[in-house]
Amino acid sequence: MTEAARQTYPFTLPDLPYPHGALEPHIDEATMHLHHDKHHKTYVDKLNEALAKAPDLQKLTLVELLRGVDKLPDAVRTAVKNNGGQHFNHDLFWNSLSPAGGAAREPHGELAKAISAEFGAFASFRDKFSDTAVKHFASGWVALVVDGGGKLQIVELHDQQVPRPWEYTPLFIVDVWEHAYYVKYQNRRPEFLAAFWNVVDWHKAEQRFTHGRTAAGV
Ligand code: MN
Repeated sequence: MTEAARQTYPFTLPDLPYPHGALEPHIDEATMHLHHDKHHKTYVDKLNEALAKAPDLQKLTLVELLRGVDKLPDAVRTAVKNNGGQHFNHDLFWNSLSPAGGAAREPHGELAKAISAEFGAFASFRDKFSDTAVKHFASGWVALVVDGGGKLQIVELHDQQVPRPWEYTPLFIVDVWEHAYYVKYQNRRPEFLAAFWNVVDWHKAEQRFTHGRTAAGV
């Protein structure tokens, strides 16, 4: 799990695990400043605003809050679902990317075998994931997850939905909200997806896969 997943109130915006310009030219520095320092921070701030009024929820971790979100009181439920979901997903997104990622353009070891078993050739997997992300209507996310039995799935998430980290281990996620790519790519989401594969952190994905196929994600 990422740092944000284990946080409790007051939530904080984790630093990026690399400099803002480190993913150039694939993901530009201006987008990273807006996306991390402004958009992500706003979700964190609004999550804290909501929980400031609910002291009995302040001991719960982000994942505990999200897991039980439908049972939360009316006054905080929507704010926690929206802003907590976005906090979780953005933190996972930053930790899905690396300037040293994509180096070999393909994963190795057990994850590579699992991808072949589930999707056929690596290129077939990549095309299916990209196609899901390109065709996703409106705002949302697409993630690669593994269940406790080692089975991989591509999951399509609407708006702030999270890849159910109490049920699956997410290996990586991509943000297809327009704010993730509009500064550099405007409406050309397929170009953003093509660039994404140059910076996927396969090393972290492999580590999460090794952990996740033998245990629940949390
Ligand atoms: Mn975003």
